[in-house]
Amino acid sequence: MKTTENLISKAYSPEEFQKDAPKVMAMISRELEASLKKEAPETIKRYSPEEQLRFWQEDFSSSGPVDLEGLMEKVMSRSINFHSKGYVGHQVAVTLPVTALTSAMMAYMNNCTTVYELGMAGNAMEKVVISHLAEKFGYNKGTAGFVVSGGSMGNLTALVTARTSSGIPEKDYHRLVVMVSGEAHYSVERAAKIMGIPSENIIKIPVGEDFGIRTELLDRTYEQAAAEGKMVFCVIGCACTTSVGAFDDLEAIADFAQRRQLWFHVDGAHGGAVIFSEKYKPLIKGIERSDSLIVDFHKMMMTPPLSTALIYNAGNRKVNEFSPKAAYLWQDQLSEEWWNSAKHTLECTKPITILHTYAIMRLYGDEIYRQNVDMLFGMGKQFAQMIKAEKNMELALEPRSNIVCFRYMPEHGDAGEVNRRVAEKLLEDGAYYVVSTRVGGKFYLRVTIMNPFTDEGVLRNLIARVKELGEAL
Ligand SMILES: *Cc1c(COP(=O)(O)O)cnc(C)c1O
Repeated sequence: MKTTENLISKAYSPEEFQKDAPKVMAMISRELEASLKKEAPETIKRYSPEEQLRFWQEDFSSSGPVDLEGLMEKVMSRSINFHSKGYVGHQVAVTLPVTALTSAMMAYMNNCTTVYELGMAGNAMEKVVISHLAEKFGYNKGTAGFVVSGGSMGNLTALVTARTSSGIPEKDYHRLVVMVSGEAHYSVERAAKIMGIPSENIIKIPVGEDFGIRTELLDRTYEQAAAEGKMVFCVIGCACTTSVGAFDDLEAIADFAQRRQLWFHVDGAHGGAVIFSEKYKPLIKGIERSDSLIVDFHKMMMTPPLSTALIYNAGNRKVNEFSPKAAYLWQDQLSEEWWNSAKHTLECTKPITILHTYAIMRLYGDEIYRQNVDMLFGMGKQFAQMIKAEKNMELALEPRSNIVCFRYMPEHGDAGEVNRRVAEKLLEDGAYYVVSTRVGGKFYLRVTIMNPFTDEGVLRNLIARVKELGEAL
């Protein structure tokens, strides 16, 4: 509909912004306070997808006046609340409130890290944070790295770089093999497939009782692949796995990679953050010998997505895969130029999500990550103890992280079926958000304790509720 009102002037009006901004920020503050205080958590009010769609279709076509605060309230009331103490589902960060502010700055400034001038501060901040992390992880001086949009993107980028570095000619790419845990995140397999690596060349190494790679199988698997004329170029370690939170023995994998001269990549999307904890960093011993690693800021490091550090160990990275010819972006096609980040990443335009992490590090230091890891992993262990103390509950395995898989054991009937129904009922309740997984082919409830305010009392009530639901079934 045409209108005589100047919408451009209205939409860009500072007065309009000053009217909305405090209201939305006040709403976030109210929500945060309520979420952290509530003893009986309200995490999710689940509408069916059809109902949710109908609601937004109606909202979209209604011609009534819209105020931003009202709209945001509607969105919130129909969305999961990660800041609720009952949120113990997937590995999504419970974002630090300050990131609501850095997000606003990011959106307004709209700087990106494509080429230097478009994100001057952002490009340099990335460099600073990556160097800091590289040092923590024990990488060599002169190490390079970038922030990429997510762990999946990070794994793909690292694999492509690994392939280029292998020096294997393109005509042999169909023979390439990547070795990885049978428990690895699906993004690894997807990345390999995107690269044209045939499915049978994505070799999944069986895991042992602790769900870590059975490293004694690595050499045999390698030799078998070689005997079939295949070329292994990369081995990947998980720190930790997504499903049950298992850490691979990175030292043993590093030894293997060194013996066979392979690229060693570590998928530390979730568990890489233990580097900040004296207590838990032994879990990733050997990571300093890897050629590349990723760690998601938007999981254990409390930022909104997508923001992932991809770091290459200096000296190990011989070729920069991502230097496409684009004379309109950069003149010198050959130099490394960290400040022109699109030379190194799959993304062209890429937001300066580093703003969140840089601000967190400056405001709270690494100490906040240590506290978060210690608290969340500690709660994972405590939750496991509580499960073990219950006579009709079973732990899938001793947790090594904040991911815990467990189930209710009914006196009669099929445990899988009962737990599936318990999961459904929990979702209907909405107080807790618990997910599920399969461990050794069996159905288990799965929690990831991501909220540092999820305390013992909340976990005790969750267990009581699971038992109550299980008994009623
Ligand atoms: C979450 C996760 C990924 C995927 O990361 P995204 O940021 O969601 O793309 C990859 N690997 C592991 C181990 C993960 O936990």
